[in-house]
Amino acid sequence: MEGQKSVDDKTMLAAEYHSNSDIRLKKLPIPEIGRNEILVKMSACGICGTDVMEWYRKKKGPRVLGHEMSGIVVQTGANVSSIEVGDNVFVSHHVPCFECYYCNNEKFSACETLHKGNFDPGGFAEYIRVPSENVEFGTFKLPENMSFEEASMIEPMACALAGQNLIKPKNNETTLVIGSGISGLTHIQLLSNLGSNTIATDISEYRLKQASYFGSDHVFQADNLNETILRSINNGRLADNVIICAGNESAFQDAFKYVDKKGKILFFAIPSSDLPIPFENLWRNEISIFFSYGAGTNDISETLDLYTKQKFNFKDMITHALPLSRIAQGFKLVQDAKESIKVVVVPDES
Ligand SMILES: [Zn+2]
Ligand SMILES: [Zn+2]
Repeated sequence: MEGQKSVDDKTMLAAEYHSNSDIRLKKLPIPEIGRNEILVKMSACGICGTDVMEWYRKKKGPRVLGHEMSGIVVQTGANVSSIEVGDNVFVSHHVPCFECYYCNNEKFSACETLHKGNFDPGGFAEYIRVPSENVEFGTFKLPENMSFEEASMIEPMACALAGQNLIKPKNNETTLVIGSGISGLTHIQLLSNLGSNTIATDISEYRLKQASYFGSDHVFQADNLNETILRSINNGRLADNVIICAGNESAFQDAFKYVDKKGKILFFAIPSSDLPIPFENLWRNEISIFFSYGAGTNDISETLDLYTKQKFNFKDMITHALPLSRIAQGFKLVQDAKESIKVVVVPDES
């Protein structure tokens, strides 16, 4: 088996992140697994918008990034029975412990274990050691017809689902999605499934086209939307829900400007520095603000379930697949945010 041959080599290619413009290809030892662990040969790993958030990532580096990973199981520890060699899997990098106060109260993303754990060394490597808790709680077999590339959309969609489970948009409400990049598009697909009236904005024509394609009812150049237009397409009212999927300052100002009385704002993206909050307006109009950081394993299960019910189009979101050795180009594509949606890293041909 091709994968087995490389395992015998004992070294593998991995991409070590130092900054967006400094990603070093390295030969690392193939990780050795313990009795409760598995070794996965990476088949695809998505580059996340947060991977190129340099102000957030650089201080934690250097390290091998990549958390939207799918692949083939090539080794299993002696005690692993739930997963077999040859299984096609998606592995969640963060898993909750299911034992602490937060887990017992279904606040999984607050679990300490979830924030500490990770697979080794990261998804941007040829082989990944999956620790026991991720084997137990975070390894999911891919649905029959899901490609490895499509699987890189599981985690981003699960995050969107987690966010919308907080604000619970209704089908008779109007939701404004600010920013129509990958995260905006995942939200748009969910809102479109729901039948909620959806308005999307962006500064890029390409992204606005994608927003329509994936189900937004109205799209606007961010500068072209104003209160009068919003009211004219929404029975005189502002938006019931606003989902922020862009990190620029004007996105936040727009959110406060366009949210209706009693409305909800979801911070799916955040600005890189603190901004003043219009307290009086929020208080007077009883606006609720929500934050969502990541997905729990329950959100991943729900995403897979909805995928098998054909509720998502992941295929058309994958615009680029680049070999691991060209990962720097992938980072540039995501950072430039021009004509790309999901950029995926795949193994080099051996
Ligand atoms: Zn991600
Ligand atoms: Zn916990």
